[in-house]
Amino acid sequence: MPNTKDFDFDVLIVGGGPVGMLLASELRISRAEPVVLERLAERTPHSKAFGLHARSLESLDRRGLVERFRDGARSWNNGHFAGLDVWVDFSLLDSAHNYALLSEQTRTERLLEERAQELGVPVRRGHEVSAVRQDADGAEVDVTGPEGSYTLRGRYVVGTDGGRSLVRRSAGIGFPGTGGRVTARLADVVLADREKAPMGMERTERGLLFCVPLDEKYHRVATFDFQKGKEAGTELTLEEFTDSLREIWGDDLGAGEPRWLSWFTDSACQAERYREGRIFLAGDAAHTHFPVGGQGVNLGLQDVLNLGWKLAAEINGWAPQGLLDTYDTERQAPARNVLANTRAQIALMNPDPYVTQLRELFQELMTKDQVNRHIAEMLSGVGVRYDLQGPGHRLLGDFARDLTLETADATLTLPKLLHRATFALLDLGGRPEISEVYQEWGAGQAWAGRVRHVVAECAQEPELAGVLVRPDGYVAWAADKDASPAEIAKGLRSALAAWAGTTGDPARPVLR
Ligand SMILES: Cc1cc2nc3c(=O)[nH]c(=O)nc-3n(C[C@H](O)[C@H](O)[C@H](O)COP(=O)(O)OP(=O)(O)OC[C@H]3O[C@@H](n4cnc5c(N)ncnc54)[C@H](O)[C@@H]3O)c2cc1C
Repeated sequence: MPNTKDFDFDVLIVGGGPVGMLLASELRISRAEPVVLERLAERTPHSKAFGLHARSLESLDRRGLVERFRDGARSWNNGHFAGLDVWVDFSLLDSAHNYALLSEQTRTERLLEERAQELGVPVRRGHEVSAVRQDADGAEVDVTGPEGSYTLRGRYVVGTDGGRSLVRRSAGIGFPGTGGRVTARLADVVLADREKAPMGMERTERGLLFCVPLDEKYHRVATFDFQKGKEAGTELTLEEFTDSLREIWGDDLGAGEPRWLSWFTDSACQAERYREGRIFLAGDAAHTHFPVGGQGVNLGLQDVLNLGWKLAAEINGWAPQGLLDTYDTERQAPARNVLANTRAQIALMNPDPYVTQLRELFQELMTKDQVNRHIAEMLSGVGVRYDLQGPGHRLLGDFARDLTLETADATLTLPKLLHRATFALLDLGGRPEISEVYQEWGAGQAWAGRVRHVVAECAQEPELAGVLVRPDGYVAWAADKDASPAEIAKGLRSALAAWAGTTGDPARPVLR
């Protein structure tokens, strides 16, 4: 292994969008040293995404961040699926955050960047990466910044550099998928005839119109055109946008004074693997899709909540064998599912009259709570569950709910226990074997603070004897009270070894 001095940073994060910024914080709280390289000197003032879904909010709560996101932001219980008239009801979710939060992307990015900086992560704005390469011991990037060009060396590179990812191309990772058939033309505009503007999504015989007020002055308006494409590399003009409005809606609503014009298609692609040696991909660099259902940012944030602690474990010298590879295996499926549901929504949005009957049938189904909840779980990410190895238990691989824990001298909550991205080992049945296995495991650990062990009672889970929750909030092991002492000891011992490791390096020197 090369000397620590050979590295400028542990992790070189290429791209400081929402996903790169959250990764930076995740690495830092797990005692790794990242740097963020972002080519834009300033954050873009235009928000692509509007909001955050339940699983993102639950995760932010597990880092003590949800209140700063909720502060002053509106939330709503409903969402749309394919613009159907029956709304998706997020209040049906089994979640402490069973709603969607209105947090425009610029705001989300600002809050995540502030957090990274509070933790002391260097964020280098105006620094563009032009080349990425790796060898057996590390990875390097060539950067051009305001003061010239330079090269940085790190143990790992993570590409959070968006859909056209240079990192992905440099790593030779393919990006297969489906090409664009629908063209969305989007404008943040003033509508002279705002009283005539519809609200939300409207399907017409010629396409779809999306229209929502952004503030007192501006509306976000988008047309979804299933026929007339657009040549790659061309800009959208106001004239083309108002033509499209007239064609699809029959009226241009007096649209003018655009502050942002943009266009995109429904092309949906996914990286064939999220890791190539010392190079990783996350966020749009790993998957892109049509933004129906508002899922892209949320999906990317979940990628790095999965990756951050695993990468830090490797850097800190305690990662069990194969831990880093579980990033790819765990995160491929959620993206595949999001791509699939956006394609399904596009099919349902098709203006072809034949689709109308299908929409009506779907709408009828959506009035059933079970169906509506299924769709809400899909869009919000609450349905994500990892296929983890271990003795089968109903909670294994699921996201642990907000448990309230009564200890001998305090009331704790599970989200709070995870604020520092440690594991939480909860002994909920006063089972001595849980403490014994923990002591036995902890005694051999260089940094036993990796796992927080709490003996408590939990009224929400009367059946549960114990549970091991990973730093990202997912259950790595659980046993019920009717399990034998031998089953508990064996299951917990192997879960701790598989996820929390059996070695450690407390003396790992910090880089600077
Ligand atoms: C119109 C629209 C509406 C959307 N609405 C929603 C929504 O409501 N909810 C939702 O969850 N998602 C939504 N999305 C998707 C969402 O915007 C993306 O999924 C999200 O931006 C992905 O974040 P990211 O950090 O992975 O990538 P990006 O936001 O693309 O960030 C990548 C960053 O990398 C930087 N970069 C790129 N190359 C380099 C380089 N070589 N060197 C240095 N820096 C580099 C870029 O400047 C950029 O800042 C929407 C998308 C669109 C287009």
